[in-house]
Amino acid sequence: MKYWIDTEFVERPYTIDLISVGLVAEDGREFYAESSEVDWTKANEWTLQTVRPQLDGSGMAREEIGYAIRRFVDKDAHPVFWGYFPAYDWVAFAWLFGDMNELPFRFPQLCLDVKQWAIELGDPALPQQVGARHHALADARWTKDAWAYLATLHPAGAARRCEGSKYPDQRAAKMV
Ligand SMILES: [Mg+2]
Repeated sequence: MKYWIDTEFVERPYTIDLISVGLVAEDGREFYAESSEVDWTKANEWTLQTVRPQLDGSGMAREEIGYAIRRFVDKDAHPVFWGYFPAYDWVAFAWLFGDMNELPFRFPQLCLDVKQWAIELGDPALPQQVGARHHALADARWTKDAWAYLATLHPAGAARRCEGSKYPDQRAAKMV
């Protein structure tokens, strides 16, 4: 199943501190959580003024968010994650589970990128995001919309999967 993800985070060199995470699943389910462990002293003005006021205050420990996402994706043998410029989102997301090798076994070690797919297709304009922005769930919903638009242009590309791991030997060694 596909999952469109977005996160908000406090970014400083050497740190990506997750603020919130949103996922929209292909079957219509949605997940949203906020971290109770954000170090707001590191946040810039833009984050304090744009992201923070949109939070609902339902903070959870990062580890608990990780377990909740495991349950959300539970029993899915082939999850495929899509983001929009997701490099930093994916690091913040993956750290909810530990290091890269501690990602849940069936999770790919890669998040597919809607922007990269758009570039492959000649970089068409993507749908405008209407309503809230810089809210992880709202942005995840828009990421799905943008993906759906590209899927109309390139149906075969929509079916791509990401499987395997960067260091299969390491992963195999962990399994024994
Ligand atoms: Mg966002």
